[in-house]
Amino acid sequence: MDHQPYIPGMSPADPGPLSRFTPPLEEGVIARWLPLHAPPGSWLLDPFGFSPRLVLEAARMGYRVLVTVNNPITRFLLEMAANPPSEADFKAALADLAVMKKGDERLGVHLQSLYLTTCEKCESQIQADLFLWRKGEDVPYARVYTCTQCGDSGEHIVRTDDIERAKKIAATDTLHRSRSFERVAALNDDDRFYVEEAIEHYLPRPLYFLTTVINRLENLNLTPERKRALHALILVACDAGNTLWGHPSERPRPKQLNIPNQFREFNLWNQLERGLGLWTETASGVVVEAWPKKIPESGGICIYEGRLKGLAEEVKKEIPIAAVIGSVPRPNQAFWTLSALWAGWLWGKEAVEPFKVALRRRRYDWAWNATALNAAFGHMFDLLPLNTPFFGLVPEPEPQFLTSVLTAANAAGFGLHSLALRTEHDAVQLVWRRGEHLKRETNDADIEEVRSAIHEHLVERGEPASYLHVHAAGLIALVETHALKKRNQEFDEALRATQLVIQKALEGDDRFIHHSSGENVDTGMWGLKTPQHGYRESLSDRVEVAIVTFLQKNPNSIYLEIEDDLYPRFPGLFTPSKAMIYAVLQSYAERSGAAWTLRPEDVAAARRNELNNITAMLEVIGTRLGYGTSKEDRNILWQEDGQVAFAFDVLASALVGRAIHETPHSPERTILILPGGRAALATYKAQRDPSLAARMKQYRVVKYRLLRALVEVPVLTRETFTEQIMRDPLEKSTAQLMMF
Ligand SMILES: [Zn+2]
Repeated sequence: MDHQPYIPGMSPADPGPLSRFTPPLEEGVIARWLPLHAPPGSWLLDPFGFSPRLVLEAARMGYRVLVTVNNPITRFLLEMAANPPSEADFKAALADLAVMKKGDERLGVHLQSLYLTTCEKCESQIQADLFLWRKGEDVPYARVYTCTQCGDSGEHIVRTDDIERAKKIAATDTLHRSRSFERVAALNDDDRFYVEEAIEHYLPRPLYFLTTVINRLENLNLTPERKRALHALILVACDAGNTLWGHPSERPRPKQLNIPNQFREFNLWNQLERGLGLWTETASGVVVEAWPKKIPESGGICIYEGRLKGLAEEVKKEIPIAAVIGSVPRPNQAFWTLSALWAGWLWGKEAVEPFKVALRRRRYDWAWNATALNAAFGHMFDLLPLNTPFFGLVPEPEPQFLTSVLTAANAAGFGLHSLALRTEHDAVQLVWRRGEHLKRETNDADIEEVRSAIHEHLVERGEPASYLHVHAAGLIALVETHALKKRNQEFDEALRATQLVIQKALEGDDRFIHHSSGENVDTGMWGLKTPQHGYRESLSDRVEVAIVTFLQKNPNSIYLEIEDDLYPRFPGLFTPSKAMIYAVLQSYAERSGAAWTLRPEDVAAARRNELNNITAMLEVIGTRLGYGTSKEDRNILWQEDGQVAFAFDVLASALVGRAIHETPHSPERTILILPGGRAALATYKAQRDPSLAARMKQYRVVKYRLLRALVEVPVLTRETFTEQIMRDPLEKSTAQLMMF
């Protein structure tokens, strides 16, 4: 296997609508992969239709993308992303809704009145932004607002009028609950129970809000574009209206329909308004057609609503697929169940029908995932020419997800050509090719093969790795030996066996050390007990050297250029994390606009000067304290009676691991001296590498600054010197750095 460098992209500035359910992918990745593997204008297939943005990016590059989608909400997201209504249509649709009558009131006024609350400070009647609830209670406990009258803002305990208002809406709940149910399934439907259960994730107020708005849809005489715009805004409110918004919480990505212990109830009128900004894309529209209508050679999206199975024969005859792209789906019971519900609310029962199975299933395990993926890969095997490349992204790559994906593809005749992994927070980038045989010979898993693959990975890495990394190294060994799944073996059995092989490989080898506070193999990090096969410089040290070398040659580089230089040097499983790159940049460089340049003091010539100064100071101080001083390679030695009292290793870098390895002197006599700007980087490295941290603990590490201060002290004794160097802990210099 020839592992490709990780392709860097940009985090999207705006994550877009329903972003907690769409795959978190970087932008610009597929745009860089595609031109190398398929000429523009050619046909691509996305068999999963999971990421609207991925498809859109390919279409904008001038490709024709055939997408299979069976989730009506995902389909809607894709059509909206490709060809959104104009901002004017969004605004007009919302305005039309607001002026409808509800009794004597305007609908907009009525719906906003549901969220009225009294300002704690000035007693004005204002809109709450959200209410806070505790699971199982029938009234909220707090509200959050910003007063439009006096500016008071924040979280406040609810008052009587908030409680009364919530109770009043709850009194009519049964009616609205049954209305919202009837849009999704008929009364005598077998799935009635499941629909009701899904609706349980809506509180009375949001449910009242949504049913009121949705019931008005038919009475509104809107153009098709405005209707689409209004559907899009309501969809945002549907997502904001459920109880899956834990409080406090940073970036929730729910997978299961579980009600958090504390959660937020958003002001849904605000959410409709927020939708305006979420949906309006600035870029030009992209052609979207429904299969079997074709799209022009200049690119576009052709949507097949259904499963790949129904398409294979026709595609094979009519459409030459040049490459496959796709964000590999992971089970999401929350999103899939809610999608069925929302489709019913927005478009009625018929729209739910093809996706109804999603309502019934509660638990999706990895074996289910692997079986479903394997079926998709099997259909693709049928319709693709030999060797067709498949660029797959695996977002949120937990180890079992990765096992599932690789097993499914391998068992359907797809050969893995590359696996590039950055961190557990980034999508894994995979390249497969359609192989010659759907079913080929399989072998038994060989623990020794897995063990030596993991060992080799750790030796080459030169530092401990996350469990995900060693797991991936093990999986690659199993892919290469065709030992992920035996013929006729069920997927659940195969996945269990793989997990066990990797576990046994790690646990049964005393060369490995587990840095973890947990018992399970899949926690913490794995490393090697003692460096074997000679010394291998750690990955983070090599990354530091590579970045500094690059910046010396290329001042004023933007971050993406640094990644571009770096990733090909560290391909596959060795891809450095963004946190590591930023830690090095913050230590050595400064940013002006988007461009990074080495700090003046970190340019090579200035550093050499500084090294000479520090060396001279050490000689001065040593002499004053009555030691004989001498030089030995990088070290300055202080000696007495022919014995080394102190050996100073003066570094310009944060390559502490290398310095410790190279020094011939004992830890208690060795003092490592770093520039102050390097201290945070050294600390960062120790925090992410427990074995380095343990080694560093044995040594004294001080900053240049201390020596400069000591040389100024008029009366310096050996005692005060020792005292001072003990008192300069590195940890103090830790800046706010990302950890991984
Ligand atoms: Zn106020």
